[in-house]
Amino acid sequence: MFKDEAKKRIQKLRAEINYHRYLYHVLDRQEISDAALDSLKHELQKLEERFPEFLTPDSPSQRVGGKPLNYFKKVRHEVRMTSLNDAFSEEELREWETRIAKFIPDSRFKIPDSGYFAEAKGDGFAVSLQYENGMFAVGSTRGDGITGEDVTENLKTIDAIPLSIARGIKEAEKYKEVEEIFERYPRVRHALEHLPKFLEVRGEVYMTKQVFDSVNREQKKRGLPVFANPRNIAAGSVRQLDPNITASRKLSFFAWDLITDLGQKTHEEEHLIMKVLGFPTVPLTRRCKALDEAILFWKEIGAKREKLPFLIDGVVIQVNDGTLFDRLGIVGKSPRGAVAFKFPAEEATTVVEDILVQIGRTGVLTPVATLRPVSIGGVTVTHATLHNMDEIKRLGVRVGDTVVVERAGDVIPAITSVIKGLRPKNAREFRMPLRCPVCGSQIARKQGEVAYYCTNKQCSAIQRERLYHFVSKKAFDIDGLGPKIIDALLDNGLIRDAADLFLLKQEDVEQIERFAEKLSSNLIAAIRERRAISLERFLFSLGIHHIGEETAIDLAHSFGSLEKIVVASLEDFGKIRDIGKVVSQSIYEWFCNKKNQEFLQKLKKAGVRITDEKLKVKSQKLAGKTFVLTGELVSLSRDEAKARIRNLGGEVSESVSRKTDYVVAGERPGSKYEKAKKLGVKILNEKKFLKMIG
Ligand SMILES: [Zn+2]
Repeated sequence: MFKDEAKKRIQKLRAEINYHRYLYHVLDRQEISDAALDSLKHELQKLEERFPEFLTPDSPSQRVGGKPLNYFKKVRHEVRMTSLNDAFSEEELREWETRIAKFIPDSRFKIPDSGYFAEAKGDGFAVSLQYENGMFAVGSTRGDGITGEDVTENLKTIDAIPLSIARGIKEAEKYKEVEEIFERYPRVRHALEHLPKFLEVRGEVYMTKQVFDSVNREQKKRGLPVFANPRNIAAGSVRQLDPNITASRKLSFFAWDLITDLGQKTHEEEHLIMKVLGFPTVPLTRRCKALDEAILFWKEIGAKREKLPFLIDGVVIQVNDGTLFDRLGIVGKSPRGAVAFKFPAEEATTVVEDILVQIGRTGVLTPVATLRPVSIGGVTVTHATLHNMDEIKRLGVRVGDTVVVERAGDVIPAITSVIKGLRPKNAREFRMPLRCPVCGSQIARKQGEVAYYCTNKQCSAIQRERLYHFVSKKAFDIDGLGPKIIDALLDNGLIRDAADLFLLKQEDVEQIERFAEKLSSNLIAAIRERRAISLERFLFSLGIHHIGEETAIDLAHSFGSLEKIVVASLEDFGKIRDIGKVVSQSIYEWFCNKKNQEFLQKLKKAGVRITDEKLKVKSQKLAGKTFVLTGELVSLSRDEAKARIRNLGGEVSESVSRKTDYVVAGERPGSKYEKAKKLGVKILNEKKFLKMIG
């Protein structure tokens, strides 16, 4: 075959394959069989091998996974990647509408003719896709909304994500559906005629129920553990360092947000533009004139969700008009103009096969029911928490009972009732063990409390939980160091406490089975990187009873250094605002304990040091002033506002008293506002507050 002949054939094959991709993924129809399409792909690949000079990055042959990565690069989101607020009832949904109505300063909120746009909400993993000159350039995860991870290579393997977007009217008009869109929505046509250099689209990577079942069948056949739900596999597959694994998972994609301004006026038009460009969008959508229509749509979708080929967990309802949507802005991490109207929790019945106890970080024993596996809304449920002995008594549950289990979102499934008529004769009542199932020490119950504790402070189960806590997100936040790896390190005798983590060497970690060289060096680097830590995180990570995130921040700001905390008296702790008797006692006792003192010394020796950047008060502008926040602020979150006050030397308190200097009142302030008025405390609105903090 001559070169120019090959070139032509390659181009034609690509166009043909892309044509069928679009039909299949975007328009949901098929003109040729899968086998025929595979055969075309095969021919293309062979030709490209012979004439590599004609290979382009957007060729359909380029969907094979590349080489495994060592780590993910970070990607900064130019436009913040928000997540949605939820509504769980019609009442909450209507409250949302009332809220946004208040937000529009015009006499009364009138939804323009475009009304609301409602769409089924896929239960998957959110990603952002950037295109440069029409070619897929960067794909990233949400991360914290501001910075995500670069997962481009993995996303390339997903057939539903176009490697290049339609670059002209001609290409798009091959399909009758697209022609119809152009006729009805001239702005969509206009958008396609004026494509900018950069384009960003967001959407959901998900796994269909069918693929999920076949993956689990395969796992079972190979004697491997089955996956609990499609969302977790989707998330895990996108965040795989080896793109070949992602490729093997047969993931799908729906686009739901067009970030770039292409002249669209409504969210509905965004959907249509994305569709025309080559992105699959969720097929279940409706433009609604009023909220009642959206509720009706939600009911219809809810009734048929079981039969859908993919999992959905609700309906997203948003203000359709783009200008109005933008004007409503963002509250916290979510846009004000949209809400996820969730489907109610799902229930199923199953049998309690056993009740075991789990030991938490503070030594508390939590009874957990082992259930006969049951699928609830596409998720296999095998355990349900029973919280404590009182809850078991309230339910009257016994081992062998048939029970009703409820699952709602990410929450751990719970038993809601027992079907007593189905109780077998040999049903067994649960008793709290007298000895710890892990270390054998005595179990005790503190007076006045519901919980039972393992009395051995060195109990290995407690140590393990403490380590999980120590490396968790809000504590030391060590990348790649989750419970499984902690378990492996403990079980191989490589660590005994958290300080040992910082003494680990690459050779140690490599001994562990399934720990490749690269993974080990990444882990060691991640641990090393975290040796410098802020005081508040450090205090939180110690897992002292009653010391949550907030208290850790209060302590850090009041004392300023660990040295001062170590020598503080019980009274010193009591002086801090918002810290009560029980909490002071707990902190004081922790620092008096000799084992804990040794642990702190060990951490120091291992190179852990506390950075003081966050504590350095930038100015003393607000020194001696106490603030109380109430209501929602528009331009910054409550945490941000608190940080700003503290940075300027001010203090933040939770409750209003005569000692309070200012109450900052945002939207819909609560009872604190009334109290401030009564006590004559100065009230600042957001504008005045912003001016004060500069
Ligand atoms: Zn124990």
